[in-house]
Amino acid sequence: MKIVVIGAGIIGVTTAYEFAERGHQVTLIERREGAGLETSFANGGQLGAGEVAPWAGPEVPGQALRWMGRADAPFRLRLKPDPEQWIWLLRFLMRCRASARAERVLPNLALALLTRARMEEITAKFASAGDPILFDERRDGILQIFHTAHSLEGAAKEAEVMRRAGLEQRVLTAAECVDVEPALAPALQKGGIVGGLYCESDGSGDAHVFTRELAARAEKMGVRFVAGADVESFETEGGKITGVRTKGWLFGGDAFVLAAGVGTAKLARQLGLRIPVYPLKGYSVTVPAMGPAGEGLAPKVSMTDEARKIVVSRLGERVRVAGTAEVSGYDTTLEMPRARSVLAGLLDLLPQLGAQAEQAEFWTGLRPMSSDGSPIIGQAGRFSNLYLNTGHGSLGWTLAAGSATALADAICGAPPRLELSPYSINRFSFI
Ligand SMILES: Cc1cc2nc3c(=O)[nH]c(=O)nc-3n(C[C@H](O)[C@H](O)[C@H](O)COP(=O)(O)OP(=O)(O)OC[C@H]3O[C@@H](n4cnc5c(N)ncnc54)[C@H](O)[C@@H]3O)c2cc1C
Repeated sequence: MKIVVIGAGIIGVTTAYEFAERGHQVTLIERREGAGLETSFANGGQLGAGEVAPWAGPEVPGQALRWMGRADAPFRLRLKPDPEQWIWLLRFLMRCRASARAERVLPNLALALLTRARMEEITAKFASAGDPILFDERRDGILQIFHTAHSLEGAAKEAEVMRRAGLEQRVLTAAECVDVEPALAPALQKGGIVGGLYCESDGSGDAHVFTRELAARAEKMGVRFVAGADVESFETEGGKITGVRTKGWLFGGDAFVLAAGVGTAKLARQLGLRIPVYPLKGYSVTVPAMGPAGEGLAPKVSMTDEARKIVVSRLGERVRVAGTAEVSGYDTTLEMPRARSVLAGLLDLLPQLGAQAEQAEFWTGLRPMSSDGSPIIGQAGRFSNLYLNTGHGSLGWTLAAGSATALADAICGAPPRLELSPYSINRFSFI
């Protein structure tokens, strides 16, 4: 088959790779100059099966109201004269129920565990061929830190559901958190940490490096990577898409996968398809791990601070912190007060990194967030050869390899490692 994949972020690159591995002819089209330069560029780095619950929850509307008007608020809403935004917000609000949140945990977990298994296979394959993919991977687990007994109890209940589905997590006291991550010692002394939830089998790594390196290997396997090409329109005939057009080029194919992150909704609209995916802006800050504080005080374990709404990952000689969620359209302006609030969260949690703050690198990106917190994967709309792999929101790195392999199985008619119906666009009742 001839497969055309649009978008070379972590989702599009893993998708292209899966088809190449199955012996298909793949064209991967990307508007930027290389792979992984948009949202997959500097994310929080977490590969976190233990943290796959959707962001929409009963506490969110109240928090959003409390944080209104605060420049450093972890969540910010900027209303636009844009029906796409209002409809998405309405859908998101309708999901702010405990039952709606619980409904998506197991489908997301299944994808995360498949991703874990698939990444293991992919990295082992290249390592054994003497061409390892080095992406600052760490397998030291992810530690969630809690500041109230109530939030720790809630998380422990959710962890119990996941344990029954095959993911072990341990509830820790505050002192045990420091045993797992000695870099938390100064934070423990300050007080405020009541305990943690530790998922030892989780990990972290640099999503951009992995995306870039896998794209290079996919090219060697025969994938035609067309960079600097913005897909503008589609050619259709009857119930099928026959090609995609960029400036001056037409790319034909048998199957077309839209994996264009926050650009997917616009492309899908041309094909008469409305998808409930909207940008959720976030920030990350990267600082050197080492400094006068010395290696002993730099974190090794990836962490999530539930109260500060940040995630922290050690990426080789760097520490990255990511956070904030802003519903403000497609604007990618880096607002320094927002970016600095994420850095402040890091320094509050790990004050020993203060000296490194001067060398901080700031970044912002748009999470392609579906309204219910699960990705949309599979055939969609009235064109029988149109497929979506998008809407991974805050979990794109954690769910990418699983989403790609499940979709490739479905399109190729291979025995599925994962049933795709829970991720179908048809789960949304109004579009
Ligand atoms: C601050 C922040 C922290 C995060 N932390 C984590 C984390 O710790 N763990 C985790 O799992 N996830 C995390 N995420 C989420 C994760 O980064 C995303 O879900 C993931 O990168 C989305 O990948 P994607 O391939 O769908 O989109 P992208 O990486 O944006 O790729 C889409 C590609 O499509 C291209 N494109 C768009 N339109 C067109 C067109 N018309 N023609 C050609 N090309 C086009 C774009 O240029 C882009 O390269 C975080 C996100 C943010 C913003």
